Amino acid sequence: NRMAAASASETVKVVVRCRPLSSREVDDGRQRIVDMDLKNGSISVKNPKGGTTEPPKVFSFDLVYDWNTEQKGMYLDVAAPIVENVMEGYNGTIFAYGQTGTGKTHTMEGKDSPEELQGVIPRTFRHVFQSIQEASDKEFLVRASFLEIYNEEIRDLLAKKADNKLELKETVDSGVYVKDLTSFVVKGVAEINNVLLVGKKNRSVGATLMNQDSSRSHSIFCITIETSDHVQGSEEGHIRVGKLNLVDLAGSERQSKTGATGDRLKEATKINLSLSALGNVISSLVDGKSGHIPYRDSKLTRLLQDSLGGNTKTVMVANIGPADYNFDETLSTLRYANRAKNI
Ligand code: ADP
Ligand code: MG
Repeated sequence: NRMAAASASETVKVVVRCRPLSSREVDDGRQRIVDMDLKNGSISVKNPKGGTTEPPKVFSFDLVYDWNTEQKGMYLDVAAPIVENVMEGYNGTIFAYGQTGTGKTHTMEGKDSPEELQGVIPRTFRHVFQSIQEASDKEFLVRASFLEIYNEEIRDLLAKKADNKLELKETVDSGVYVKDLTSFVVKGVAEINNVLLVGKKNRSVGATLMNQDSSRSHSIFCITIETSDHVQGSEEGHIRVGKLNLVDLAGSERQSKTGATGDRLKEATKINLSLSALGNVISSLVDGKSGHIPYRDSKLTRLLQDSLGGNTKTVMVANIGPADYNFDETLSTLRYANRAKNI
């Protein structure tokens, strides 16, 4: 069905970003096994144990970003259109997927300074408040919340108590929501930045307190933007609400293969479950054929149900590392991304 494919390609996009070899990897004499052709969106990965005869594995995507890609270019391509959409009252979601150490947090947050190194989240903050300043004919209300999902449990990163657990609720009127989740009204970049900082601090304090590894949890920073237009000659404004979810996913590495046991194995099982549930949701959205979208299979997909599919825009940035020792994980990420992309 061409119509379905066309609309899916507009609503769900999967792109791949490969980070540079780290200085440690260079020092260790690691080889880059990933090659990218930015023009036609292809990626080839060479098996380091494959000798000279094994052909590289080749994948193709709408957009691929190599180690020279700057944060700004990435933002303008993949995030800015979604932010614009959210300001018009639609929902949107940006995911960073990939093995730990491949650049998920670099993509989403980046470094505070210099400004060139800032990632999607701080750029979104500036974009939103700049647009608000420019739109003098409208009024805006911006709210921010910040949570993480660890072991299929939801934790409010803005709550006073670090070891809180929140529940997902559902009503006919408001759909799926997190009961008692803290949300702050923010008036500008400094305020929303502060919300991010508080949440990040709580995240690491909570993780230490509960002996958890934050690379094993999904974090979701959510910005809700309410816009009211002043309709000429009318008392009432027209109100629209858009929601943007900025998601730094748990590391996709297969912990079960590394011989994890006990709590670590339990964690790994839950992560694999939620990442595969997300993959299933995205691929059935993209596929457009199956009427049933399996949102209910994980907390992550249930929570994001109203921001995935339908009138929303979603981008998944699949992050990979370039080095030889990451061959298996890199292939696994590219296969995941490949399944989620539109054909
Ligand atoms: P993850 O969140 O996936 O575990 P990080 O974002 O923490 O990975 O990245 C791991 C390291 O690699 C960090 O030191 C980060 O600054 C660096 N890095 C990641 N992506 C890039 C990139 N595109 N350019 C330069 N450095 C990067
Ligand atoms: Mg990270």
